[in-house]
Amino acid sequence: MTNTIASRLENIRSRIACNLQQAGRDSNFITLLAVSKTKPVSDIQQAYAAGQRQFGENYAQEAVEKIQLLSHLEDIQWHFIGPLQSNKTRIVAENFDWVQSVEREKIARRLNDQRPAEKAPLQVLLQVNISDEASKSGLTPDGVLELADKVAAMDNLVLRGLMTIPAKQDQAALEQDFARMYALYERLKHEYPQVDTLSMGMSGDMEEAIKAGSTMVRLGSAIFGARD
Ligand SMILES: *Cc1c(COP(=O)(O)O)cnc(C)c1O
Repeated sequence: MTNTIASRLENIRSRIACNLQQAGRDSNFITLLAVSKTKPVSDIQQAYAAGQRQFGENYAQEAVEKIQLLSHLEDIQWHFIGPLQSNKTRIVAENFDWVQSVEREKIARRLNDQRPAEKAPLQVLLQVNISDEASKSGLTPDGVLELADKVAAMDNLVLRGLMTIPAKQDQAALEQDFARMYALYERLKHEYPQVDTLSMGMSGDMEEAIKAGSTMVRLGSAIFGARD
């Protein structure tokens, strides 16, 4: 098993380098987030031993148990990437380094108020529902600048950029959505110099996302295998 996760990671890193090169982009410019939801702590330890440092989790309670069990691992960074309800903001604010799924002012305000003073500010991405799906969380593109303005003014949050999960759709529509995300990201960067992160691309669409300008890909099954 050790070998499986380590060799998948190695493989993915070289695929990313190759995609970046094909896209004519700087090869140091992508963060690989390992999405470990539903996977055991032993899988995370194997990925960590293979050099992986950034991990993503969707379910607050499950994540906090893992975070506490792995608190001895230096430099490990935890990203909350799932839907976030008001009753979970406290454990997220207390335990994570990043939250990628902020879509409402009320949630941002709670995270800001509940972030412990002794911790570094929480790094925040706004989630955008770029394919305009009724079932998906996220802001409409029109709502991004208004919420960005509010988040940027909060002392315990740092606005770092945008995250999206596009619809399952044909290639042309997917490329169009990624291109619209990139344009939105550029616009945000222009207003806020600290913005440096566009989180898009998962196991099934990493290559298209990198081509479109993603700076962070979130991979689960490609690293840890299929989830139940
Ligand atoms: C589960 C999940 C991922 C990883 O999905 P894979 O298809 O397994 O790579 C990425 N981002 C979010 C928000 C997720 O919920």
